[in-house]
Amino acid sequence: MDNYDILILGGGPGGYVAAIKGAQLGLKIALIEKDAIGGVCLNEGCIPTKTLLKSAKVYRLMKHSKDYGISVDSASIKPNWDVILQRKSSVVKRLTSGVQGLLKKNGVTVFQGYGEVINNTTVKVNSETITAKNIVLATGASPIIPPIPGLKEGIENQFVYSSKTLLNYPKIPNSLTIIGGGVIGIEFATLFSSFGTKVTILERLEQILMPIDDDIRNAYLKLLAKESIEIITKANVTKINEASVTYELNGQSKNIDSEIVLLSVGMKPNIDSFKQLNLSMNKQGIQVNEQMQTSIPNVYAIGDITGKMMLAHAASAEGIVAVETIAGKKSKFSFDSVPSAVYGFPEIAWIGLTEKEVKEKKTDYKVSQFPLLANGRSLAEGDTDGFVKIIVNPKNGEILGAHILAANATDLLAETVLARDSEATIADIANSIHLHPSVSEAVMEAAIGALLKPIHM
Ligand code: NAD
Repeated sequence: MDNYDILILGGGPGGYVAAIKGAQLGLKIALIEKDAIGGVCLNEGCIPTKTLLKSAKVYRLMKHSKDYGISVDSASIKPNWDVILQRKSSVVKRLTSGVQGLLKKNGVTVFQGYGEVINNTTVKVNSETITAKNIVLATGASPIIPPIPGLKEGIENQFVYSSKTLLNYPKIPNSLTIIGGGVIGIEFATLFSSFGTKVTILERLEQILMPIDDDIRNAYLKLLAKESIEIITKANVTKINEASVTYELNGQSKNIDSEIVLLSVGMKPNIDSFKQLNLSMNKQGIQVNEQMQTSIPNVYAIGDITGKMMLAHAASAEGIVAVETIAGKKSKFSFDSVPSAVYGFPEIAWIGLTEKEVKEKKTDYKVSQFPLLANGRSLAEGDTDGFVKIIVNPKNGEILGAHILAANATDLLAETVLARDSEATIADIANSIHLHPSVSEAVMEAAIGALLKPIHM
């Protein structure tokens, strides 16, 4: 029986980052993982889907190669789904073995098995009992399965898939119905529609992607329509049949046939392995303070189980805060500093408040938008769909929100995240010399526009 400084339950981006950081801080760390190291993100989420999206991107580009002066026989451009899936698996393997190597090199003891928390210092895994001064819970989340009649049978009969099981569907489906127009639903919609699948999204609320800024959503909806992705909002799914989905729209019952269905209506925290602890919970998940401490001071909760922002990068940052706190350092986590994204063609990335949220706060604000059509590099790339929108406090130049719709929005957003975190003002971005030609100049131009007027518009 070994006594560890920290025992981490769950080896996803929350748990494994916490483990490495804890070891780097000189603490004795144990990590328990029941499946593969890397969690949902590396094995069944973020990384495999981005790998598949890259194949879709190549396919889309090749189909438009004539626009760039490259002639190819269009009949010869075909996706090979088996090879696409093989590439996905090899990227995942490379990354997860890299993480395993890092854990080993940093001296983290990894236990393979289901960990069951007995009390705030003891966890049972397989037949072993492990004790630690502190426990960090990082057990992630699982798809919500709503009580829709026929859903259980639909899953059993391989008509309904989750984002995890769909990754191994053996072919590109002819048609796909997606229940839930959130981040996962949209990502799969753009992925498969790129390969020619007829995609229909059924969303319960009045809009898809509720958290994003309205201007971004309106522009994005036009692009999804161009892709022939059908979006049916205010749709109440009432039944899953053998090969169709029944839903209610404006009091009328309708049916939609498709080869398969993706269910992506959100995730719920995995809390079974530590229910013994009776931790305080809120509506979203395990309640924590800014140091990620639960209602039991030596037990920390990070990542999806806190339910607030189910994002890998938030989980990793929370993990670092938890272990730094345990190591006696001053550290705290702020949800205001977490950027969000929707992957697809183009991407959406944002940080801070939407214009609607700023309005609700009744604070003074100014909006500046810069279209990619006015950016030279975007024109050269042939990626002119989108814009940069920055919302500032005109009194002090504080960046209240930054919203980007662009081919590489997730990379472009970074400077606004840094600016907000370091309390830089919009003038600091406007006055920084950005490489020419680069898409990042659109961020600079939006910043200049928030102060005066953009140069190139
Ligand atoms: P989500 O919460 O983003 O979206 C779920 C959507 O389903 C919502 O729009 C909701 O209104 C709708 N919905 C709920 N019940 C429904 C029903 N019965 N019928 C029709 N629509 C219904 O959830 P998700 O897309 O499943 O993603 C799960 C979590 O994983 C999210 O918290 C997300 O942040 C995270 N995630 C993030 C990324 C990313 O950052 N790009 C990628 C994947 C997953």
